[in-house]
Amino acid sequence: MEEAISKNFIEQIIEEDLKEGKYEKIVTRFPPEPNGYLHIGHAKSILLNYGLAKEYGGDFHFRFDDTNPTKEKTEYVDSIKEDVEWLGADYDQTIYFASNYFDRMYECAEFLIKKGKAYVCDLTPEEIREYRGTLTEPGKNSPYRDRTPEENLALFRAMKNGEFEDGSKVLRAKIDMTSGNMNMRDPILYRIARMEHHNTGDDWCIYPMYDFAHPLEDAFEGVTHSICTLEFEDHRPLYDWVVKECEFVHPPKQIEFAKLYLTNVVTGKRYIKKLVDDGIVDGWDDPRLVTLSALRRRGYTPESIRRFMELVGVAKSHSSVDYAMLEYCIRDDLKLKKPRVSAVLDPIKLVITNYPEDKVEYMEVKNNQENEEMGTRKVPFCRELYIERDDFKIERPKKYFRLYPGNEVRLMNGYFVTCTDYVTDEDGNVTEVLCTYDPESRGGNSPDGRKVKGTIHWVAAPFAKKAEVRLYENIVDEEKGVYNEDGSVNLNPDSLIILKDCYVEPSLEEAAPGDSFQFVRQGYFCLDTKDTTKDHMVFNRIVSMKSSYQPK
Ligand code: ATP
Ligand code: MG
Repeated sequence: MEEAISKNFIEQIIEEDLKEGKYEKIVTRFPPEPNGYLHIGHAKSILLNYGLAKEYGGDFHFRFDDTNPTKEKTEYVDSIKEDVEWLGADYDQTIYFASNYFDRMYECAEFLIKKGKAYVCDLTPEEIREYRGTLTEPGKNSPYRDRTPEENLALFRAMKNGEFEDGSKVLRAKIDMTSGNMNMRDPILYRIARMEHHNTGDDWCIYPMYDFAHPLEDAFEGVTHSICTLEFEDHRPLYDWVVKECEFVHPPKQIEFAKLYLTNVVTGKRYIKKLVDDGIVDGWDDPRLVTLSALRRRGYTPESIRRFMELVGVAKSHSSVDYAMLEYCIRDDLKLKKPRVSAVLDPIKLVITNYPEDKVEYMEVKNNQENEEMGTRKVPFCRELYIERDDFKIERPKKYFRLYPGNEVRLMNGYFVTCTDYVTDEDGNVTEVLCTYDPESRGGNSPDGRKVKGTIHWVAAPFAKKAEVRLYENIVDEEKGVYNEDGSVNLNPDSLIILKDCYVEPSLEEAAPGDSFQFVRQGYFCLDTKDTTKDHMVFNRIVSMKSSYQPK
């Protein structure tokens, strides 16, 4: 029978391993380094690893890869935890910390020394580089390479006990200085560095290198499939060497896949951090960024991100995914879930001259035309309304069906109105549009079968709530180049447009920060969690209504 879903290459590897009985159950992990906030690329790794564990009845480990004290901070630990939970990756209330394995890692290092597989080297960093050779030339053995295990053990213990200066000695694996793979030319396993660690304080003055620590962390936890990104492909022989020489009975294996890149945004922790540090964006959660905290603040949902990852799939070669695909996923997720409300972003007054001055009517409006279950609400209608400036023109442009003198349009859920006149200020700017309404067209229904081509939205002026609306566009324009020659980011000047004088319908007064809505004809918007106060609503545009992307 043909399989309904074609399996990705990682699923194929896992199924093969399970069939051969290599593992009783699989264990995957997500191992972030707490040196920044997570971004959309990390979400891919989280959902991939978590999804595989779930699919095959295995375990998923959430582990902080915190072996490098320089850049790590508790602020990052907390934010990463929040993001993983938000995405719905259930880690069974257990968080692993690589730094909790420092003792065991140290034991593994001594084990290798005793086996004659590691040695203490006194070459300076420059000398080590020189001795390493190049891609075309083999390296040379360090003069310290033939120290005896006893001598190495004594020196390594002295390193640990703080008897040497930072950087004066390292522990190296004894592999092959002529290897075609530079990573195998006696890589450094431990270095001396007196640094305060966020978890272990000043317990240690020697720290393991990533290529030594990572396979050990995986092996200690019984990880079976250690999934990482392609840049580690060349490190795999070293990964295998470490778990083999440390003699693990069920060694994990490393599998690489392509990183996720999105067009017109900045992925990569390093670049995002620079934008934050340089104050170009409003922190790690600036809604133009694709960190998970920014996406959450902007109004993206975990469901939309999971859907996006399903559409993207898993590949072995690098490619950039169209940002519009992510937009498609959020639009599709919110479409049936969110109320459709009225907001006027660039307001101009509309006065219905034949509507009684003191009268207020309450129109019964469906919360979501495509989802009856969402019920209805009452929306006030009266003589003075706000409409979008753009929905009125003095001179009719071609194919324009909205308001201009003499034309009749439908006020959505309101009445038919015909423009009779308009008022301008000294500079000729339109300040008011004057209309008459047809009392027979209540609810926006034609009384006699006559048709109007334009439908516009509105809010009742005396009831409307003032709001600030922030419109976002891609932070960079890929075609113009993401980075300038000096390495700075080539920011799109329109990436943030702030509209201060918008009006939203009164029902939004009840909205809580984080709530999202469709603003009819405009897009999806989320009440900002950071800058909204009791008297000041700030909405972020999540995504506009239209899309250039359609899934196949
Ligand atoms: P960056 O490349 O943004 O600096 P990183 O690789 O330094 O990120 P880590 O904290 O080391 O960040 O990553 C944790 C996990 O997330 C790793 O397994 C890494 O391979 C994975 N990961 C990081 N970036 C991406 C990406 N763009 N696509 C898929 N997985 C990623
Ligand atoms: Mg990394």
